[in-house]
Amino acid sequence: MSGAALPAVFVSHGSPMHAIEPGAAREAWRSLAREIGRPRAILVASAHWETPAPALTASARPETIHDFYGFPRALYEIAYPAPGAPEVAERAAALLRAAGFSAALDRSRGLDHGAWAPLLHMYPEADVPVLELSVQSALGPRHHLALGAALAALAHEGVLIVGSGHLTHNLAERTDGPPLAYVREFQSWVRQRIESRELAALAAYRARTPHGVRAHPTEEHFLPLFVALGAAGPAYRATRLYAGIETGSLAMDAYRFDAA
Ligand code: ZN
Repeated sequence: MSGAALPAVFVSHGSPMHAIEPGAAREAWRSLAREIGRPRAILVASAHWETPAPALTASARPETIHDFYGFPRALYEIAYPAPGAPEVAERAAALLRAAGFSAALDRSRGLDHGAWAPLLHMYPEADVPVLELSVQSALGPRHHLALGAALAALAHEGVLIVGSGHLTHNLAERTDGPPLAYVREFQSWVRQRIESRELAALAAYRARTPHGVRAHPTEEHFLPLFVALGAAGPAYRATRLYAGIETGSLAMDAYRFDAA
């Protein structure tokens, strides 16, 4: 199957509470999915699956993983029973290997909340097959841009590529007060780099901005953005769909990237 390319998407998945509480972020995810329509499958690069080398879920019936602690019981009862997509996983693995990466298939892992928290709202029927791609937190942005680029062909085959992480993710600085000034500055700096397609500068964000390390004390929640950018190709058009800031330090930006 081939045709017009689907966009690639980045979502900041927020607290798991988005699953059971209303909010503007999830309304933005819903309207995004309505605009995109129903893909053949969804590949989610999730901040909540870290492995040393790239891996893909290849279970036919992935279970819902509740990979968080101390939340209300209702959250642990949520199931997102979307089917898996083992044949898409095989195809994705072949594309990654052709680009020089290793690519393991994990036939037992289910879907973590990096995948199901946004998909619960985007595709509430849970009838679109879903697979996950792991992130390699030690390998940095350039590696993830290249992973996305290697998978770009999938967007022509009806597969929606979603990076699920956070635009900023300093959990230690969460507060009940207003958004922290540096979070807004970093959000704006990232937006400018994205919109002007300065991906080399964006990939060097830890050195190029005074706030990069503070916004991401560890990198795993930022890396899915680079997978989405890589998948969209070098001449993408970016649209920011949402940009709220929660608990002072968690920027919730969502973007779609349409290939030129
Ligand atoms: Zn997260």
